[in-house]
Amino acid sequence: MINKRRLIKTFIDLVKLDSLSLREQKAAEYLRKYLKRYHLRLRELGRPPGGEIGNLACHLPGRGPRLLLNAHIDTVSPGKGIRPTKRGRYIRSDGTTILGADNKAGVAAILEIIAILIEKNIPHPPLDILFTVAEEIGLIGAKAISQDELKADYGLVLDGGDINKIINQAPTQDNLFVTIVGKAAHAGIHPEEGINAIKVASAAIAKMKLGRIDQETTANIGLIRGGKATNIIPEEVELKGEARSHNLIKLKKQVAQMKNLLQASSRQAGAKCRIQVERMYNSFRIEPEHQLVARVAKAMRQENIKPQITKTGGGSDANIFNELGIPSIILGVGADHVHTKKEQILMSDLVAGTKIVLATIRGFYRG
Ligand SMILES: [Zn+2]
Repeated sequence: MINKRRLIKTFIDLVKLDSLSLREQKAAEYLRKYLKRYHLRLRELGRPPGGEIGNLACHLPGRGPRLLLNAHIDTVSPGKGIRPTKRGRYIRSDGTTILGADNKAGVAAILEIIAILIEKNIPHPPLDILFTVAEEIGLIGAKAISQDELKADYGLVLDGGDINKIINQAPTQDNLFVTIVGKAAHAGIHPEEGINAIKVASAAIAKMKLGRIDQETTANIGLIRGGKATNIIPEEVELKGEARSHNLIKLKKQVAQMKNLLQASSRQAGAKCRIQVERMYNSFRIEPEHQLVARVAKAMRQENIKPQITKTGGGSDANIFNELGIPSIILGVGADHVHTKKEQILMSDLVAGTKIVLATIRGFYRG
């Protein structure tokens, strides 16, 4: 039923349009044109600060529970001037950029599904189509949507890789912004007058538990910046880090450990330490018995694919929709090696993934 050739063409068309986070205008124009053929008009639904455009939404009336169908249209760097090429059964970039299958694959799948539903007059439940922007830089597109603007009963977020995975669980993430202020001094003439902020930070980091903490928890210091010259004892150092967990108590414990070590190290050396903790998003968990999961699993089996219900260590717009009260899961439409220049997509996965989403949607129809 899916028009495979059109689906793959749409995907390739989309990939060729630059759409780094906050610069999604070109991709938006493509969506507008595509949907105009089906007499659908996109309206803006919340715009993140600094964005060229906002999230784009439209509605397809139907019968049954109301479904949110979402994919984000922005991509990570290097994502300018992508040249997609077919190699065997795969589509890849030319190796100098990402491919952008994260998440143009999801976007192409949604466009194909809309086209098929309308062309073939297929009965379906009410669909809230939502293309989000600026997902890759902290979900700030989805975060710009207010609660009363989203009314769906359930959500399907197309943003994974493997087409056999139903992602029903994602962690909470806290970011840490740290500034350690020591004291500058000439490194050769008056070293005893200085307090080395880099050394203070290093001592704390060396003691920190980082990486995989346990099955549910991870932590990282991802950025360190400080110092001016070899002959100056560095006065200031800035750190950025994060902790994630599916378990809030564990998350609190991890963040506290990181903070305590930084504060203790600073105190010991007579440095000052400022730490700001910001909640990036909250965790969610959809019961494996939930009808949303059950319907997707059924659609997968129809495609001879064995469903695997699993959790992710990453955050996505699904975290935001769940927070806004819409039980949402994440499904893949085939991208792999995402966020790298080796990113690729198996064309048959894009097709099968799209079929699964279409079958899931149809499963919700109540005549
Ligand atoms: Zn993505």
